[in-house]
Amino acid sequence: MKIMTIYAHPADTITNCGGTLALHAARGDEVVALILSHGGRIHANKYAEEWRKENPDGDIAAAGLDDIVANKKNELDRAADIIGISKIITLDHEDTYATVQEDMVEQIAEQIAIEQPEIVIADHPRNPAYFDPHYVATGMALAALSRAGLYLRNLDGRDEVPVRQVFLTGLPVYTLDALSLNGLRNDCYVDITDVVGTKLAAMDQFVSQGYHGVFARKLVESYNGEAGRAAGVNFAESFVRLYNETHAHLPVTDAALATDPLTRHIAYSSVNLRGAFPVP
Ligand SMILES: [Zn+2]
Repeated sequence: MKIMTIYAHPADTITNCGGTLALHAARGDEVVALILSHGGRIHANKYAEEWRKENPDGDIAAAGLDDIVANKKNELDRAADIIGISKIITLDHEDTYATVQEDMVEQIAEQIAIEQPEIVIADHPRNPAYFDPHYVATGMALAALSRAGLYLRNLDGRDEVPVRQVFLTGLPVYTLDALSLNGLRNDCYVDITDVVGTKLAAMDQFVSQGYHGVFARKLVESYNGEAGRAAGVNFAESFVRLYNETHAHLPVTDAALATDPLTRHIAYSSVNLRGAFPVP
């Protein structure tokens, strides 16, 4: 199986679904990451912080866009190696886009047609609700999926690309059932407890944006910890499935069958993250 992630910025892939990708890579699935921007402007902490010093380091203070982007790409390459992402495709747009752009939709559709993924992962297109690169990235990704799904050899010289499911990340809604909040919720969780150290090690590579060390641990403890609470495991990544699913029979997961309602909250609180994976 082949998974393609489509995100606005280099680190988004790791923070949103790095654990899930590591699990899929470990079982032999192919993982390709498509990143729309070069990421030079997003969380450029290393450079902004240098300018706050009395005597800024000459090299860092003089770094231009090419240097900043090259450094970010090195960080992403190292993180991808740790996760098991086999290919990174960067479209290298500015991070500042605020609306859907036809040329980017076309470029994304082109990459979908080249890669032929069964699964696409992208940010939830209603979070945040205002125009922001993550929201807009998914707007373009969904438009590109439609476009690639309509390719006709007579007209486009290529066949349609049937992506089978899209998993949307980043929706901060962790209700435990389908009725609360009128059904707006993550409806699919992946238990990443076994690979949480892998996700942390990947995040530790993003030093220039301050995502390493304490922030990596804060994010996993809080974000993946809260998703884990909803899922009944120590750490989870959460998803919303875009398309309906069809089963041969009514689906009940192994996790649902195995859960002990009395001790669930204790079982999913058993990992001491900073003890097991201290800040390097
Ligand atoms: Zn981002």
